[in-house]
Amino acid sequence: MKILVINAGSSSLKYQLLDMDDESVIAKGNCDRIGIDGHIKHTTFDGRTVDVDCTFPTHTEAFEKLVDVLTKGDASVLKSMDEISAVGHRIVQGAEVFDRTTLVTDEVIKQIDDLAELAPVHNHPHALALWACKKVIPETTPQVVVFDTAFHQTMPEKAFMYGLPYECYEKFHVRKYGFHGTSHRFVSQALADAMGKDIKDLKIVSCHLGNGSSITAVEGGKSIDTSMGFTPLDGVIMGTRCGAIDASAVTFVASKLGLSPSEMSDYLNKKSGFLGVSGISSDNRDLSAAAHEGDKRAILAGEMLRYEIKKYIGSYAAVMNGLDAVLFTGGIGENSDDLRADVCRDMEYLGIKLDEKVNEGMRGKLMKISAPDSKVEVWVVPTNEELLIARDTKALVESMK
Ligand code: AMP
Repeated sequence: MKILVINAGSSSLKYQLLDMDDESVIAKGNCDRIGIDGHIKHTTFDGRTVDVDCTFPTHTEAFEKLVDVLTKGDASVLKSMDEISAVGHRIVQGAEVFDRTTLVTDEVIKQIDDLAELAPVHNHPHALALWACKKVIPETTPQVVVFDTAFHQTMPEKAFMYGLPYECYEKFHVRKYGFHGTSHRFVSQALADAMGKDIKDLKIVSCHLGNGSSITAVEGGKSIDTSMGFTPLDGVIMGTRCGAIDASAVTFVASKLGLSPSEMSDYLNKKSGFLGVSGISSDNRDLSAAAHEGDKRAILAGEMLRYEIKKYIGSYAAVMNGLDAVLFTGGIGENSDDLRADVCRDMEYLGIKLDEKVNEGMRGKLMKISAPDSKVEVWVVPTNEELLIARDTKALVESMK
């Protein structure tokens, strides 16, 4: 069974074609600069490539080109699109409307578009891509949507509500939704499998640390709390996002700088975080390099992230009344051995003891990095959101037969 996975943004359409018989990637790529000019970069499993400028006025032309490279020319991998059994789409915001992977209908696309107010950067482009996909992909091919927020719909009310007047929730749907759910679900299950345990018996803190970062308490396979909130701005300090701050600081800075709500939102989302604190870069590697040179603000930004992760691990252990495992994933979590060592240092009271030697230099591999006598296991678990979307899509399509 071949499944096409789509991750659409406002100007890009990333894709992976997977063979679900062995879960291998047949081809992957990105249609970029949609609405600007257009470019496609496509690579097959055996190293054939397409890397050309195109004209992509809308997502429809990008899909047409995608079908073209998959089925025609030197880097083709399909005789026809009929070989694809289903298309799985990543959707950022499902709010309280979608708590699970769902089959696409016109009504579902409209509902996703209606949620755009809660995820302005993502949901409308997702809806555009879904309409475009419907136009271009054979009508008989089922399309499925997998939501970043769905995994967190199990959070109890006391965890997802804010202390605002209740009408903010009732009228404007303001609450914690949480994000990266597809990743947290994938890595926590992969961890349980690697530990040889039933996920129902585990209390896990899942640390997805990348350009955007979120930390989730996974108890018995369910998200019970997570660090991102109403939007992906909340939680720990990130590449360009500030993470959790006192809401009064927002109104204070906006009035000092004379910023409108949308300008202030840009300030918090695009100019803050690592970039804002260090004044150097949003990228962890640049920050580490500057920190090694002794740059004080780069050191500070790194220390802030480490401190905040520690606090989340401690608080989630408290609310779960225990902890079996901590996992690190995402670009930083999978690769930054020094961050993992710093976070796990002085955590013996919680039962966390790292094997410094195993951790050192460990990058991007599924690996236990805690010491044999550590009460809590610590793991690096590479994430693979596309694979989870493909698995979900396959499962839903098969359940319809
Ligand atoms: P992601 O958003 O998951 O792709 O992660 C991006 C972040 O991971 C960036 O801040 C990168 O600097 C960081 N990253 C990627 N590779 C490494 C590495 N080898 N060591 C440290 N950080 C890394």
